[in-house]
Amino acid sequence: MYSIQSNQKLKPFTTMAIDVVASNYVAINTVEDLQSFLKSSYAKPLYILGGGSNIVFLQDYPGTVLHIHNLGKGVMTQGENEVLVKANAGENWHEFVLWALSHDFGGLENLSLIPGRVGASPMQNIGAYGREIKDVFYELEAVEIATGKIRIFNREECQFGYRDSIFKNELKGQYIITSVIFRLTTKHHQLKTDYGAIQNKLASMNVNNPTIQDVSKAVIAIRESKLPDPKKIPNCGSFFKNPTILNEEYLLLKQHFPEMPGYVVSDTHTKVPAGWLIDFAGWKGFRNETVGVHDRQALVLINHHEGSGKDILNLSNEIVQDIDAKFGIKLEREVNMI
Ligand SMILES: Cc1cc2nc3c(=O)[nH]c(=O)nc-3n(C[C@H](O)[C@H](O)[C@H](O)COP(=O)(O)OP(=O)(O)OC[C@H]3O[C@@H](n4cnc5c(N)ncnc54)[C@H](O)[C@@H]3O)c2cc1C
Repeated sequence: MYSIQSNQKLKPFTTMAIDVVASNYVAINTVEDLQSFLKSSYAKPLYILGGGSNIVFLQDYPGTVLHIHNLGKGVMTQGENEVLVKANAGENWHEFVLWALSHDFGGLENLSLIPGRVGASPMQNIGAYGREIKDVFYELEAVEIATGKIRIFNREECQFGYRDSIFKNELKGQYIITSVIFRLTTKHHQLKTDYGAIQNKLASMNVNNPTIQDVSKAVIAIRESKLPDPKKIPNCGSFFKNPTILNEEYLLLKQHFPEMPGYVVSDTHTKVPAGWLIDFAGWKGFRNETVGVHDRQALVLINHHEGSGKDILNLSNEIVQDIDAKFGIKLEREVNMI
């Protein structure tokens, strides 16, 4: 069963803590309730909310906000070296990662401490420290909003890309993800420690032969030292994607800005860290009366004093224009705004 509430404040449900209200709000605990809700004559438009860690509301929401709360996780099948585990969309992502680690299932350790819920993880193919969920994704179950019908999507069908999937493009606003199945390792775990500061962190922890649990601990420690805790400083993590530019453009920029880092991603393209561009342009630590740029991580916009969604939008627009003017690079937002 579910009940619809009127004029629900959304601030407690979002990590950017914007003070907005949804005209109608419903929390859904089961797929059956979801299907019966979709058949009802609910107030449109409909917005799907998970952990609220990748969304900035620009104004009060006029239709219905549907909060995904279906819980449950477990092993589906266990093979010689692999296991298929299923988690329902309402499960907290990090708790799911810790649960997998407690069973010695490998593959999610680099994705420790990412906020949000399991259901949103395929939306932007969440990634961190050299891993993305597409590396361990098996399939997901989703309900079509228009018909209430269940559909299974395999990895190819999700069309995962860098912070991207079919659910942000062709099928945007058409499906609600209800559960995700991951293929994890039970032995011979494939550790990825060559990214960011993981190796240095492991060394400082005196770990020579790391386990998946050690990698998770290192990732958690690095993240805690670099990223603001949304409970203390409201934010949505990385606000912009790292731009990918042509190799020749990168080489030209490098002549003007010799310190500019770049990672070759293909024969033709190089990825440039957006955080470096924003920092170099002088935005790190910037604050106006309500919102600003974090002083330790230039990629993170913060709501330090009751900022509105429009305050965040305006600041992000200023940064985009400035980076374009200084480097000729157009930053793209990672965070959803509505
Ligand atoms: C401090 C911090 C650090 C972060 N670090 C990272 C990081 O390292 N890597 C990374 O990739 N992201 C990171 N993020 C961003 C964010 O945590 C992820 O994008 C996360 O997956 C969002 O999950 P959520 O449940 O909060 O989604 P929400 O913010 O609630 O929703 C995000 C989008 O998904 C849609 N959606 C949510 N649930 C469903 C569903 N069940 N079905 C269909 N659509 C749905 C929403 O409509 C919205 O468009 C970070 C955020 C913060 C605050």
